Amino acid sequence: MSAVLFRISRLTYYNLGFSGNRPIKIPLDTAYVLIGDKCSQSCLFCSFSRQPRISGKSKADSRKWLSRIDWLEVDYREFFQRFNSNKAFKRVCFQLPVDRKSIDYTLDILSENGIKKGKSISVSAWLSEPEIEHFFDSGVDTIALNFDIINPKTHTTIKGTEFDKKLVFISRIADKYSNKPDALTTHVIVGGGESDLELHDFFQLMKKKKINVALFSYTPVQKGKIPDLQRPSLGRYRKIQLMKYLCDHFENEYSVKFENDTISEFRLNGDVYEYVLKHGEPFNTSGCKNCTRPYYNDSPAEKELYNYFDKLTPKKYREILESLPVIINKKNL
Ligand code: SF4
Repeated sequence: MSAVLFRISRLTYYNLGFSGNRPIKIPLDTAYVLIGDKCSQSCLFCSFSRQPRISGKSKADSRKWLSRIDWLEVDYREFFQRFNSNKAFKRVCFQLPVDRKSIDYTLDILSENGIKKGKSISVSAWLSEPEIEHFFDSGVDTIALNFDIINPKTHTTIKGTEFDKKLVFISRIADKYSNKPDALTTHVIVGGGESDLELHDFFQLMKKKKINVALFSYTPVQKGKIPDLQRPSLGRYRKIQLMKYLCDHFENEYSVKFENDTISEFRLNGDVYEYVLKHGEPFNTSGCKNCTRPYYNDSPAEKELYNYFDKLTPKKYREILESLPVIINKKNL
């Protein structure tokens, strides 16, 4: 097996006791693993890009990070040992760059070590159809094929690939595995030049294809700043979170009104309205089951988080609802 970097996120490191008996401030249900440090793609927001917009020492430093997370190298056998005997963890997610070596390495270590926690693995990567089959055969239960950017024009500018081709491919894979629950996830970055209406149509399509959507906010970190893009305002992000939540859980029981492709009103059936007013889930991290990815695109220094990884208190939830820049109406649809 050729040597490939095996790293885990700092919080995974602490939760698995790699740093001794350090108190665990943020418990995790999912362990995050990063394989390799090279990628054949050129996504402008990523520090692993084939054409990074930085060089020299800062380039080497930037590869210690992915989004806002830093990653620590550990021995993969020790990782599997600790993970398998740790009752708190329910899932492991492998973040894979598009790189032949990293993909083969991950398949090898999965067959060598085995996850003894049922089928609880996600692989976040761009894979070919035979690779997808191979990963599912190896016990992986969810694969994330990530669109990231959902406006076709900015998708090409930022990722250097064609959105429509990706859509055709992912749709075919979704149809092929339609009987396999939660087989596919896709990451979506809000703030990649798309409109609210485009996100609405995209969520509906993913729902139809049974693909889970994991929402991220565009975060202009040093190594991944894109000149024309801004982080979405918290108000816009909250509206998008609510729209996705309604689409996931209350199909046909809500409608969204748009003005100039921007959400201006939510209309909710009576029961749904009462439920949404009381339950804080819309603003929690979304994606695969048990994935909370704390501070993936938030800073611990920020008071308000884009994705809450903890259950919100009723008080906090009320505050967020009251600050939403949109009308939520009760209406029989
Ligand atoms: S949603 Fe979470 S667990 Fe699933 S692929 Fe993305 S980061 Fe991994």
